[in-house]
Amino acid sequence: MMSKPMSEADAWPAGARAGEASLRALALRSGDWYWETDAVLRLTILHGGPSAAEAAFSQWIGRRDWEIPGELLRPSTWQEHKQRLEARLPFSDLVVRRPLVGEGAAVQQLCGVPIFDPAGQFTGYAGIGRDITEQTRTQDALRDLASIDPLTLLLNRKAFDESAQQVLSDAYARGHQCALLCIGLDRFRVLNSVYGHRVGDRVLAAVAARLREVVRPPNLLGRRGGDEIVALLVDVVNSDLVDAVARDVTEAIARSERLGNIEVSVRASVGVGFFPKDGGDLDALFNAGDAALLRAKEAGGGTQALFTPELARRTELRVLLEQRFRKAYESRDFRLFYQPLVSLPEGRLVGAEALLRWKDAELGDISPGEFIPIAEESGLIEGVGEWVLREACRQRQLWRQIGLDLPPIAINVSGVQMRNPGFVEFVLLTLDEFAVAAEELEIEITETGLIDASAVSQENLRRLRDAGIKAALDDFGVGYSSLAHLRDLPMHRLKIDRSFTIECMQNGRTNSIVQAVIEMAHKLDMTVTAEGVETAKQKDWMHTLGCDSAQGFLFARPMPAEEFLGSFLEDRARQVQRA
Ligand code: C2E
Ligand code: MG
Ligand code: MG
Repeated sequence: MMSKPMSEADAWPAGARAGEASLRALALRSGDWYWETDAVLRLTILHGGPSAAEAAFSQWIGRRDWEIPGELLRPSTWQEHKQRLEARLPFSDLVVRRPLVGEGAAVQQLCGVPIFDPAGQFTGYAGIGRDITEQTRTQDALRDLASIDPLTLLLNRKAFDESAQQVLSDAYARGHQCALLCIGLDRFRVLNSVYGHRVGDRVLAAVAARLREVVRPPNLLGRRGGDEIVALLVDVVNSDLVDAVARDVTEAIARSERLGNIEVSVRASVGVGFFPKDGGDLDALFNAGDAALLRAKEAGGGTQALFTPELARRTELRVLLEQRFRKAYESRDFRLFYQPLVSLPEGRLVGAEALLRWKDAELGDISPGEFIPIAEESGLIEGVGEWVLREACRQRQLWRQIGLDLPPIAINVSGVQMRNPGFVEFVLLTLDEFAVAAEELEIEITETGLIDASAVSQENLRRLRDAGIKAALDDFGVGYSSLAHLRDLPMHRLKIDRSFTIECMQNGRTNSIVQAVIEMAHKLDMTVTAEGVETAKQKDWMHTLGCDSAQGFLFARPMPAEEFLGSFLEDRARQVQRA
């Protein structure tokens, strides 16, 4: 068997027919085959070899290698091989894929040496052939294993990056433009936590299959981890085309997926960055695509966004914010402010909402509207939520210890926390630790936090109610505003969002809707609070519509615990006076 390729020194000296004989014997023993050509390179002998090749071999006699049907795998052109033959050089690595008669195809590796007669006259080539089909199959499989993501069958991160580098440097050399599409599944985290990772995986695989229909070679498709799917469009002549592809991608994904007995709806956002305009190398291009993706997600998802330089600044700010927030989180560098809830129309203090505050040494006060989403995305929200609950309970215990009986305090809870099966247990243990009664605490959860109202969050809501802890549906009117939520979820309070409070007085339709919602809530035994009341007019209006209580700058802004205590004492003094 020829285990090592022949070097040029292996060429037989003129007339060395003895070597030819041993070559032939060697081939026969190993299952390889021996071959010879005449002086014009036509095959004259094919001897031995696998039985599957026998029928094909008989048809090859009299032909030159390049005249036999098949595909040349190595070297890259027949021209290259022919030059070697014309120079009468030995060759060791000619690889061709050839159809066998009725037996599929075989990959064959051939090596050969020139033969000269005793007079030094060239008489042809002789050599050995070997079937390497299995070996190449294994090599291909190994290569696939190293470069293909097994779940989605897209290029994995490493392979995508390598191919993309190559595409970009070719494009750069030729002055061409490329486009990177960063594709993200909207609410994929939620999907994973609601239905489990197995469902998440199946959705990803289905999405990838649809993407392969839309983005075809030579364009690249890869998975860079999680739900991060990327496409690189090669040689983009017209930016409008990219827009069309981005739209095709969102449309291809926006379908619902039936997985067993559950129906999961998926939507994608796409961020687009152009090479070299938005990013001069792969990393910069990824940053541009990611920033645009974030923009598309912020716009509500299910849509596409192009990169702009303004986005770059925002992304930088967000990255900075996340870094600073992590630091603040480590030292729990937070405070809780309290905003009163007053009864309508009397204006008595009937509760308070605890609102998280974070002041960064350099960036100053940052609103929870900005950092809560960061906490949710970076996985810190559970820890933040724990701190909020403990801090509220600790404060409550202090007030109790000095003999004060304040109305209930509401804390905001993220949807991520609500989907944790251990959430209620943790709340009850904390109440116990600080000797706070269930009636002293209320939990606010936004509708958006309850989307999909997963089995776990519903169960948690029920268990909270059974334990005597009241729940409020926060920000009603933002996002889903589902009447089914009102009907199905065990809620004690409905909080009408500030945007509705403002719009009611301006828009007749909104006013009618809000009025109907309030009526319905009352029928379901819920109490209704108007949020964001800033003017006396708004207060009267919301009262007339049927709101039982209100919260807003008109009555008080969120304030530190000591100040809130002051306003509680004042309110009590007023009540006493009135009595
Ligand atoms: P939210 O739960 O709806 O809280 C009410 C927000 O409206 C507060 O904003 C409050 O300061 C503001 N607000 C109250 N009255 C008025 C008014 O008359 N006019 C105007 N313009 N605004 C008013 P804040 O404190 O910035 O909090 C924003 C949101 O961040 C909260 O909305 C809540 O969803 C979230 N959040 C705050 N603290 C926490 C927390 O501890 N945990 C979680 N998960 N989310 C929190
Ligand atoms: Mg709230
Ligand atoms: Mg609210």
